[in-house]
Amino acid sequence: MTEKWDIVIVGGGLAGYVAATYLARTDLSILVLEKGGRLGGRAGTNKIKQQYLNVGPHALAKKGIAKSVLEELGIRLSGKSPKVGGILVENDLEYAAPFSPLELFTTRLLNPRERMEWIAVLWKVMNTNPDNLAEQTFQQWVTQVAYSERCKQLLHVLGRLSTYCNAPETASAKVMLSSMKQAMKGVLYLDGGWQTIIDQLHSKAVNSGVQVRTRTPVKQIVPLEQDHFKLILANDEDIHTKYIICTTGPQELAKMLDDNVHLDQKRFLGEIIAVRGATLDLALTQLPNPNNLFAMGITDPLYYSVHSTYARLSDDPKNVVLHVFKYHHPADQVDEKRIKDELKRFLDQLQPGWQQYMITKRFIPDITVNQRLPQVGDEQKLQRFKTGIPGVYIAGDWASPHSILSDAAVSSGKQAAEEVILEEKRRNRADHGARVSAI
Ligand SMILES: Cc1cc2nc3c(=O)[nH]c(=O)nc-3n(C[C@H](O)[C@H](O)[C@H](O)COP(=O)(O)OP(=O)(O)OC[C@H]3O[C@@H](n4cnc5c(N)ncnc54)[C@H](O)[C@@H]3O)c2cc1C
Repeated sequence: MTEKWDIVIVGGGLAGYVAATYLARTDLSILVLEKGGRLGGRAGTNKIKQQYLNVGPHALAKKGIAKSVLEELGIRLSGKSPKVGGILVENDLEYAAPFSPLELFTTRLLNPRERMEWIAVLWKVMNTNPDNLAEQTFQQWVTQVAYSERCKQLLHVLGRLSTYCNAPETASAKVMLSSMKQAMKGVLYLDGGWQTIIDQLHSKAVNSGVQVRTRTPVKQIVPLEQDHFKLILANDEDIHTKYIICTTGPQELAKMLDDNVHLDQKRFLGEIIAVRGATLDLALTQLPNPNNLFAMGITDPLYYSVHSTYARLSDDPKNVVLHVFKYHHPADQVDEKRIKDELKRFLDQLQPGWQQYMITKRFIPDITVNQRLPQVGDEQKLQRFKTGIPGVYIAGDWASPHSILSDAAVSSGKQAAEEVILEEKRRNRADHGARVSAI
């Protein structure tokens, strides 16, 4: 017999779980289908040899929408903010990063003229309304607000740090600046990793009656008569539902919708490019150089941060968990060995001899950080696409026109849930009206 549900949520990551937890407050029946064996998607944390490794460096914006929505759902977020500062690296030389008042006035990176210019640029960052930059790329905006090469480079460093985007020539200045402003208000590294968010959402959802199935890939979405859908699973079983919330990436969605979507909608999904990077996630028994906790490359798109200084990420508090990361450009050809060597060289410079303290390491050469590189003009296309298939609601970190990363995943998950609730009320009112007029 065919299973019937009110709502099927495809994907058990952050967006899917936020949607499920919101909808769990209604009396609708809800099923979450996750293709993987584990829950959490990219917000998952692997416990390896008693160390908690997020999938690459994860920092939650303290003033971002994700944090406020998660708190509204009753999720406890325990952790600390990393100290602002650290070092910037160029041609093997290290400079204090001018991101805090002391370093701003003391760093050897800036000459007196650049120092004054950088203060003015930071003021502009904090006082510019990102909504006014919808028509500009990040690069265009950078050349407008900074004159010296140094200050331009520093803006690019801050841009990469807060968005993971390394394509200033195409990335939307609006989304980049809005994320930068958010990140400059501080971030949290979370105790136990981001899995703690997923685990709490999972408990809340399941305790309210949501069913979750892992290892259940959805192969196809087929619209049926009377506002219903059929989901065909990879094992060819099918499930019927009134509403679908899809939190997969755009290309997976295109495959699932197959011919049930207009050509221009399919083309839009196919044109979306992802924000990608390479990550080296490590746990050590100690740091050879305990003073080096944070570093970024100035021209090389590299990141390094010791997360366990601020978050409990190991069963043994003496151990250290850190991440080294490379921001890919969309045109980059990923040469696994070259990137691994590059990340190791960066780490050698910051923590010489780190290998002898190693507990565990994991290298991922090419991972999607955000499913959509936000570009000028794609906001309207995305809005149009999202309302194009009635009954199918889109969520995930690519599905919010104005934000990216967890802010986008969480806000779009909440929005999809709210839209389903509204539509259900509308349909119930319409049914009730039809019954009354029949009497
Ligand atoms: C290296 C790295 C660093 C990051 N750093 C930060 C950071 O510092 N701050 C921040 O805010 N965000 C960060 N992020 C981004 C954040 O992790 C993601 O934005 C968020 O987890 C995305 O959640 P999601 O639910 O949209 O997608 P996902 O987590 O990808 O979840 C989608 C789920 O759908 C499942 N799925 C796909 N297709 C199917 C199918 N056909 N059937 C069933 N299930 C399917 C997938 O298996 C997956 O579990 C980072 C990400 C990475 C990779």
